Amino acid sequence: MNQIVLEILEYYKNNKREMPWRQTTDAYKIWLSEVVLQQTQVIQGTAYYYKFIENFPTVAHLANANEELVLKLRQGLGYYSRARNLHKAAKIIVSDYKGIFPKDYKLILKLPGIGEYTAAAICSFAFNQAYPTLDGNVFRLISRLYAVELPINEQKNRSFFMEILNNLILNTNPRLFNNAFMELGATVCKSQNPNCNICPVSIQCMALKEGKIKIIPIKTNKIKVRNRYLNFLHITYGNKFYITKRIQKDIWQNLYTLPLIESTQGIDIKSLILMLPEVIKNKKNTIDLKSEIKHLLTHQVIFAKFWEIKLEQLPDFESNNLIEVDINSYKNFAIPKLIDKYLLLL
Ligand code: SF4
Repeated sequence: MNQIVLEILEYYKNNKREMPWRQTTDAYKIWLSEVVLQQTQVIQGTAYYYKFIENFPTVAHLANANEELVLKLRQGLGYYSRARNLHKAAKIIVSDYKGIFPKDYKLILKLPGIGEYTAAAICSFAFNQAYPTLDGNVFRLISRLYAVELPINEQKNRSFFMEILNNLILNTNPRLFNNAFMELGATVCKSQNPNCNICPVSIQCMALKEGKIKIIPIKTNKIKVRNRYLNFLHITYGNKFYITKRIQKDIWQNLYTLPLIESTQGIDIKSLILMLPEVIKNKKNTIDLKSEIKHLLTHQVIFAKFWEIKLEQLPDFESNNLIEVDINSYKNFAIPKLIDKYLLLL
């Protein structure tokens, strides 16, 4: 076995963190853990992992659940399409595979929301198959170890890194191999201030030797961030207010929000009044800007304004798909963090 692999496996054996999903070879639980852990801190992800396991102990429980509950359980983590895909994939596993997780990498890859990394994680951690898990931590570790100066966020370079890993994983225990490489990347070869003093492969590390730790891994700055101006209408009547389900293919699909009007730039109260639906354009209603919140998503910056509209009379909302709630009952719905943040300020 390659010396680098031996050193990393030995380090892992002596320094690994215990995590609940490392105690199991159940493909379903491993899949759940991967879905909640992506772009999430381990501590936060662990709480969500337990929540999902408690509510859906098997893939059949998840498949038979209401999608709204699945979204609700993910509330606060963002990336809600992952919850919708999780639910869809569970249904396919139950209908096409009799509730038994497929073992074939290509079949797993066909499930909604499962990409190359997650398929490899399931194949290796559940079935001990030799598929390297190339996540952000492993990209960084390999880049530095071999001083690779190819941008890690360009899909065309993925095969280069995979080739290195496919060679290294040969004749190893794939489950251990992947855990060990991911762990070293996450805990020692960290993005800022890697802990080279305790690194088991510092002697072999080319980036360290060449003084390139600060510039490797290379990333191109390709992500375009879009500004959006969302005006949320906090329409109140007495102690009630209204929420609506977002059905359009956009952020927060199938979650509940305050009704909203999107504008091309930040607007004042006069412009808002012009854009309001006729049903609430009653001069006796009072309108106030209650809060402004800047909310960051991966590809979008949301400039949110929350307008409170106090209704003098209750109009006919029937055709507007509005749901009447109060400050307690809205919590039964899956609500984006941004809206929750506003409502908690009240
Ligand atoms: Fe990363 Fe430092 Fe180890 Fe190189 S020596 S792999 S930079 S932690």
